[in-house]
Amino acid sequence: MGETFNVADIFGEDVFNDSAMQERLPKKVYKDLKRTIEEGKELDLATADVIAHEMKEWAIEKGATHYTHWFQPLTGFTAEKHDSFISAPLESGKVLMSFSGKELIKGEPDASSFPSGGLRATFEARGYTAWDCTSPAFVRHDAAGATLCIPTAFCSYGGEALDQKTPLLRSMEAINEQALRLIRLFGNTTSKKVTPSVGIEQEYFLVDAQKFLERKDLIYAGRTLFGAMPPKGQELDDHYFGTIRQRIAGFMKDVNEELWRVGVSSKTQHNEVAPAQHELAPIYAPANVAVDHNHLVMQTLKRVASRHGMKCLLHEKPFAGVNGSGKHNNWSLITDDGKNLLNPGKTPHENNQFLLILACILKAVDEHAALLRESAADPGNDHRLGADEAPPAIISVFLGDQLEDVIEQFIDKGEATHSIERKKLETGVKTIPEFSKDATDRNRTSPFAFTGNKFEFRMAGSRDSVAGANVVLNTIVAEAFAEACEYLEKDRNRDFELVVHELIKKYATKHKEIIFNGNGYDDEWVKKAEEKGLPNIRSMVEAIPALVSEKSIKMFKDFKVFTKVELESRAEIKYENYAKAINIEARTMIDMASKQFIPAVIKYTKTLADTVIAVKAAGADASVQSEALAEVTGYLAEAKKANDALIELTDKASAMGEGKDRAEFYHSQVVPAMEALRAPVDRLEMIVDKEAWPMPSYGDLLFEV
Ligand code: ADP
Ligand code: MG
Repeated sequence: MGETFNVADIFGEDVFNDSAMQERLPKKVYKDLKRTIEEGKELDLATADVIAHEMKEWAIEKGATHYTHWFQPLTGFTAEKHDSFISAPLESGKVLMSFSGKELIKGEPDASSFPSGGLRATFEARGYTAWDCTSPAFVRHDAAGATLCIPTAFCSYGGEALDQKTPLLRSMEAINEQALRLIRLFGNTTSKKVTPSVGIEQEYFLVDAQKFLERKDLIYAGRTLFGAMPPKGQELDDHYFGTIRQRIAGFMKDVNEELWRVGVSSKTQHNEVAPAQHELAPIYAPANVAVDHNHLVMQTLKRVASRHGMKCLLHEKPFAGVNGSGKHNNWSLITDDGKNLLNPGKTPHENNQFLLILACILKAVDEHAALLRESAADPGNDHRLGADEAPPAIISVFLGDQLEDVIEQFIDKGEATHSIERKKLETGVKTIPEFSKDATDRNRTSPFAFTGNKFEFRMAGSRDSVAGANVVLNTIVAEAFAEACEYLEKDRNRDFELVVHELIKKYATKHKEIIFNGNGYDDEWVKKAEEKGLPNIRSMVEAIPALVSEKSIKMFKDFKVFTKVELESRAEIKYENYAKAINIEARTMIDMASKQFIPAVIKYTKTLADTVIAVKAAGADASVQSEALAEVTGYLAEAKKANDALIELTDKASAMGEGKDRAEFYHSQVVPAMEALRAPVDRLEMIVDKEAWPMPSYGDLLFEV
């Protein structure tokens, strides 16, 4: 058994958090910094110098030798460039350790090698990283030693966002401004700030590292590109919430410890539906911190898995035939004095502010459904959304019985007079304590579900950053709030409650079609949604245009989240990322088929043929052997043909110019050709001697971790 420790002692130990700042910084400097963090006041360089010095001293005590500006370029991963603290050697031959305010607040990585979508030619390589002081710096310990990591935003020379964080921070400002404006109208004079708060549930798979290394598809693409289903999948539901096996438990213990040290409040862990699938969720935090922490979670899962002789798969669909992985984005709006604006209270029908906010969210999600869908688009998620797995690609909102009833009362009568009450849980067992049930049951099939005091956006992919989804949520809701405020501010002489009721009724009536409390996994829903006119966007390449629709461009510009040029560059990057991802997958398949499967099966046919001859020579009936040979050679020929076709199409796609057309070609031509190659190879796996098969099977990967 490993060491035990008290979580409270180690939590945040490696974070330059509020208590470290308070302890280290001179009072005035601490106050100035707090004002920057809390109110966005500008920080002068002299103050930054003091902070940098103290931060460095603190980090060195933790063993740090280097610092890095840690940022989130549009690669989907985080990036960092390390500089040590040493300054030029002194005459004595010794060095000093230094870190200036300038180095803290600004970095200058060469931006030319990061995706910019045409925002900048390669010769204009300047890009800046800028300190995000609202997400605390931390010291990371790994094989490189200890490094002071400073969360930063990443922009071009012209100030265009080249990353995920900059627009997220802008959108947080937009929603803060509009939410404050709205609650002021309802008489709130005390709250100073409204923060979108986000809790991110992360799903992942663990496989044995040795077996992982025997599969090129896992190495290059992060998912299996071939593989027949084992006799057992997830049908028994015995893995979900099942007892955590010791090897996995040891891994989770280390993950938690590392996360706690860097201030990530890892809270919940359990086995997921698919075999070898698990989930981790921290406690919610301000959106930008939550997104930073989610990157730390993903990196920590990978690093610790390797240490435990395993590999962590973050891909949305590592295995066909069992569930894929998502990232659930729980979102609410919380004031600096602790009020959650999405809390309906015990009697929602009386809570006008909440109901208006809810109606605004319905409106926002309905009007920008395609954009919200786009925010969850990445190549891996194409295998989940609208494909063989749920949630469906159709955006709808689950409200639950109680709120749907209140909304219906508004639609019918322009007001609501009662709320369905919470009931006691009746188990029929006297010794089990009684408690009140939640007002409504859950709906696990809804892509956007109200869960008591927050919305859960369940479409996001497991590997993707959820910065994009939160940028969209914050901005579309800011827009709806702004419109509602304009309406309310227009005619101050009318009875406020009446005007509010009018608005709730108006929005609820107009956008009621987006509400859906039923089973989102049902085929019936797809038909019904189509009748309602809700968009059903089944793939990433079909989703991207929503980013640059007139409606999106106008909204993002109005709320200063993206300029038109930034949006266009992002769309371009997304098309390219898609094309690159499929190209890697196709080429990996070709490699595996040409060098592993086809040669292995050819060898196997020789064994079969020799056997047929031998059996016949012995004067026995060789019909079974002959049939096996015929079947195997049949699929072999099919595989060879499909492989040749895939080679031709992939070469053609690679030769095309970058952009939308190429991405569409990969989607419409290359992807089906990949499926055509997979089918006969998977058939072969079912009938070829296991000894002759050149790599671990699904069964080996999923059930022998
Ligand atoms: P679930 O409701 O899905 O069963 P939890 O209650 O454990 O799961 O919450 C899932 C995630 O939602 C956690 O990260 C949790 O911290 C987060 N969460 C809880 N309340 C809020 C809130 N008001 N705003 C945002 N996230 C929240
Ligand atoms: Mg959840």
